Amino acid sequence: MNYDTYASNAVELAIDLANVDRDVDAWPVDFLRAHDEWFSPGSAREFSPEESQAAGEIADLVRAVALAQTQPEVLDRLNALLSRARPEPYATDHDGELHLHYTPDEAPVLDQMTTTVAMGLSQVVTQHGWQRLGVCSAEGCEDVYVDTSRNASRRYCSNTCASRSTVAAYRARQKT
Ligand SMILES: [Zn+2]
Ligand SMILES: [Zn+2]
Repeated sequence: MNYDTYASNAVELAIDLANVDRDVDAWPVDFLRAHDEWFSPGSAREFSPEESQAAGEIADLVRAVALAQTQPEVLDRLNALLSRARPEPYATDHDGELHLHYTPDEAPVLDQMTTTVAMGLSQVVTQHGWQRLGVCSAEGCEDVYVDTSRNASRRYCSNTCASRSTVAAYRARQKT
């Protein structure tokens, strides 16, 4: 999987959305600001309460795809996510490189987000396999990840979780 040349990094947006801590009331604004580059310059970086609710559902759908254990499950969940997307793609070189945007600049920011997430995730799944998605193996961490390693050997959401687990395993061995 040559991730650097992969047509879109949109799957990262999907993963970040699935891992958002939604106990924080201001999460939608924080999320939109932290991923500012994904949204058209003119669009408002906020959701109405209904849109926040919908965004949370999209996050749950992404997580559900990552947690799926079988291909039929993946298909069901991915299609549920895709049914929320409103793709209206166009090609652009606004940053100097020719690439696709999945929604027009004037689309509501929720549609921009939902569509980008759904398209990014489904491209990775259909091109690279749903086994590329997983949930962190570290104790106490439920974050999902996309495995971009060459040999598909990833088990943790982050280096932090990987080293924390290595240390814990080492300590457990010392005890026995
Ligand atoms: Zn762009
Ligand atoms: Zn983790």
